[in-house]
Amino acid sequence: MTVSSFIPPKRTLMGPGPSDVPERVLQALSRPTIGHLDPEFIRLMDETKFLLQQAFHTKNQLTIPVSAPGSAGMETCFANLLEPGDKAIVCQNGVFGMRMRENVERMGANAIMVEDEWGTAVDVEKVEQALKANPDAKLLAFVHAETSTGVESDVKALCALAHQYDCLSLVDAVTSVGGIALKVDEWGVDAVYTGTQKCLSSTPGISPVSFSDAAVEVIKNRHTKVQSWFLDLNLVMGYWGEGAKRAYHHTAPINPLYGLHEALLSLHEEGNENAWQRHRHHHNGLKAGLEAMGLEFAVQESIRLPQLNAVSIPDGIDDAQVRGRLLNDYSLELGAGLGKFAGNLWRIGLMGASACEENVSLCVTALDEVLSDMGAAIEKGAGPAAVLKHYA
Ligand SMILES: *Cc1c(COP(=O)(O)O)cnc(C)c1O
Repeated sequence: MTVSSFIPPKRTLMGPGPSDVPERVLQALSRPTIGHLDPEFIRLMDETKFLLQQAFHTKNQLTIPVSAPGSAGMETCFANLLEPGDKAIVCQNGVFGMRMRENVERMGANAIMVEDEWGTAVDVEKVEQALKANPDAKLLAFVHAETSTGVESDVKALCALAHQYDCLSLVDAVTSVGGIALKVDEWGVDAVYTGTQKCLSSTPGISPVSFSDAAVEVIKNRHTKVQSWFLDLNLVMGYWGEGAKRAYHHTAPINPLYGLHEALLSLHEEGNENAWQRHRHHHNGLKAGLEAMGLEFAVQESIRLPQLNAVSIPDGIDDAQVRGRLLNDYSLELGAGLGKFAGNLWRIGLMGASACEENVSLCVTALDEVLSDMGAAIEKGAGPAAVLKHYA
């Protein structure tokens, strides 16, 4: 085998994550590595916690980045909040709700499932019935932005219900933070996790989490040890806790945290509301282009995520062939359908730095060219024209 330094191709990332990583974040990643207990690194940790609190709209003290990807943030929440024999209500309307169920069961707890069709939102009434029928449930878990289908569920209503029935709320916000409104304190979210490679536009591998005082009480008063040593927040708090008395738990991913810090700083400078508006604006540009071309969204407008666009593939068009040509000829990555939606739709991400005019133009122009070349029944030229008009 001949081996050499790896130089990745330059891509435009418009799938379900990772999203495009801006130059300033890439530069931050390449700064010199320092010790993970260096006072300067601790300063970076404190700033990162502050910036995460801003991104989550929370004052929660226990707001930290878990040193592993979004799925580990999910596992951190379930592992710390549940004990064997506990009952959790889990809402499933796509891939990630299924993963939540796996977590609950592997903790030795019971998952009461509330299932909704893929492509629809979590049904608040069904959740209320489940809460009524299970007064001993400890936790209500659901996904805010279902990346597998492009659907938003109502965090505010679901968390209010959880509290009404004396339950903790656990929200998957991997694809929502930075892209659409999420207000952890105001909406009564008790536990939440996100990812770095979606609307925050940093590199994958870190999962910010945040816990309310009520959730922290539950974690501190467990009867059994958290089954994962690495994810046990009672131990991690010793490292990410207050002030100078921090003790070694594991070696933090130092450079990836430089990257996250820079990405969060960029969001802080832009402002959360402005970032949400930017995602909406470019979603509208993409929508104008795709609909003018004759393509259709797979999800009803009122629950559509601006940052993850599920678009039906025209009849007779081969999914893999289109995505292959986009990648080879335009260096553009779109997402394939997952699970039940495989082969039926594309998932077009407008996450973080990928939510920009350049990407919308490239995507609509490339689809216009490739689809008409393959003989799809589209309105040739109408898509790019609609995009120009949107941005005029
Ligand atoms: C991407 C994603 C995850 C998993 O994150 P990883 O970083 O891939 O582990 C979990 N939930 C949702 C909604 C996601 O989009």
